[in-house]
Amino acid sequence: MSNTLESPKATTVLAMAKLKVVLGDITKQHVDAIVNAANNSMRGGGGVDGAIHRAGGPEILKDCIARFPNGLATGDAGYTVAGKLPCQWVIHTVGPNYRAGQTDRELLESCYKRSLNIADELAVATIAFPLISAGVYGWPKEDAARCAVDTCHDTETNVEEILFVAFDEKTFALLEKLV
Ligand code: ADP
Repeated sequence: MSNTLESPKATTVLAMAKLKVVLGDITKQHVDAIVNAANNSMRGGGGVDGAIHRAGGPEILKDCIARFPNGLATGDAGYTVAGKLPCQWVIHTVGPNYRAGQTDRELLESCYKRSLNIADELAVATIAFPLISAGVYGWPKEDAARCAVDTCHDTETNVEEILFVAFDEKTFALLEKLV
């Protein structure tokens, strides 16, 4: 009988996260990280981006300038501190601007995948997503919701719980049907 001690295997266990839908304001969510639907400049904007910067305060913009001197590409994601928000991190991702002709669905899928990759780097257990590109950027809501749910369902991650935050009742009902 051998008593050789085996070295422990790497403990990276990538599994599927639990998906949930909530109705409300993403800036109020008590999770480890919230995701921001940012734009290429990474210097703040309207919609959920504006709400996050307003609620989190100037520390978020300061960190955006330090970490993203040249902004961020569409479909990519990166993180900053969360300032005064109740979460620990803001993961910023740039959704495709459907209204401006960026209709490649892979770019929208990439936003969810890259955000979950960053969440894993930060060892985030709970994360909240808005419906990326479904506001000012004009991605059709039903498909935006389907893309969010399917991509998060199919992406391997160590995140334990993913919240989809619906900002209105109609979006809540749509997401609930899919989750
Ligand atoms: P995009 O430019 O990517 O379309 P928007 O911020 O315009 O981003 O909208 C993305 C989604 O976020 C929309 O469904 C919008 O209703 C929603 N939204 C806006 N503000 C908030 C908020 N404070 N919390 C959660 N969702 C929000």
